[in-house]
Amino acid sequence: MKAFAYRSAASEESVATLLGEKALPLAGGTNLLNLMKNYVLQPEVLVDIKKIPGTSGIEIASGSAKIGANALIADIAAHEGIRKEYPALAQAAGAIATPQVRNMATLGGNICQRPYCWYFTQEAFDCLKRGGTTCPAKKGENEYHAIFENDGPCVIVHPSSAAPALVALGAKVRVGGKSSREVPIEEFFILPKDDPRRENSLGPGEIVTHVILGPARPKSATYLVREKDASDWPVSLAAAALELDGDTVKSARICLGAVAPIPLRSKEAEAALAGKKVTEATAAAAADAAVAGAKPLAKNAYKVRTAHACVKRAILLAAGIQVPDLGPR
Ligand SMILES: Cc1cc2nc3c(=O)[nH]c(=O)nc-3n(C[C@H](O)[C@H](O)[C@H](O)COP(=O)(O)OP(=O)(O)OC[C@H]3O[C@@H](n4cnc5c(N)ncnc54)[C@H](O)[C@@H]3O)c2cc1C
Repeated sequence: MKAFAYRSAASEESVATLLGEKALPLAGGTNLLNLMKNYVLQPEVLVDIKKIPGTSGIEIASGSAKIGANALIADIAAHEGIRKEYPALAQAAGAIATPQVRNMATLGGNICQRPYCWYFTQEAFDCLKRGGTTCPAKKGENEYHAIFENDGPCVIVHPSSAAPALVALGAKVRVGGKSSREVPIEEFFILPKDDPRRENSLGPGEIVTHVILGPARPKSATYLVREKDASDWPVSLAAAALELDGDTVKSARICLGAVAPIPLRSKEAEAALAGKKVTEATAAAAADAAVAGAKPLAKNAYKVRTAHACVKRAILLAAGIQVPDLGPR
């Protein structure tokens, strides 16, 4: 690992000064330090942001919740209020990585983590994201890459499991440091065609300080498919948040994960479900709508089917419908 200086930010204001051009914010370090050990990222300064007051708590009030960017993934998964009011987020958090990682990793770090694409994470490859000239995954080993939004310069999938749940729950991201603003989470993430080197809209000197959730969505769920049951990123994931009128869907927000360079909201699936009762047939029709526009690469057509299963099952789970093939939750 290349030598670096360590600084600790005591306040949000000090972040702007400490986060210079060759500096990166450090939260739990579970993603950043691995990339530094592989020489993929080589910051000259790490700015520890975990001691910034007020950024580690989870507060639930009536009609909203405020989660500090430095709240631990393990604490979010176990939080009674989050489990009850925003189960899609608790379920997504509980399925991330391993207990050890969840006890170090933060929510801010999770949504700002860098991609796990094997071409990006190995120094030897010429990767556009690291300043190279091409995206080797486009014509290479693209089993785990995007099936949507893959006609741009890079075909990563966004790696965060929490982000699709936050999109389905209509969250906002509070940005602090050099400036202060709230951004709807869907606008926080950016596509490679807008900038292949970044995954989000944070500017220099800015960090995420909080994630703010809107009204409780007890009828929400996350479902994911992965190759093994722990310590692995999903190959597909979906989060659904339903507003029901009796047993009819008044409105739905559905977001797919691990299938595009951003968490991908499916307005097509939402429209297919609106005004319907949730049944296996309507959930399957919404899933059909969600994957209708998929354009798999040479080696990842299987992800269309796993994404379909995730959407269907997330909707059924959100509505409280258990079906036999859902497996353990
Ligand atoms: C074996 C393994 C399996 C995993 N499986 C999954 C999985 O299934 N799903 C999943 O979602 N993740 C998975 N992960 C990734 C893991 O969730 C992330 O490493 C973790 O969430 C990152 O959080 P952190 O606090 O450690 O961030 P750090 O490693 O400290 O930071 C990550 C990045 O975000 C930046 N950053 C951190 N905090 C902020 C902030 N507040 N504002 C702006 N930038 C910030 C850092 O500069 C860095 O670039 C896995 C990791 C491992 C090692």
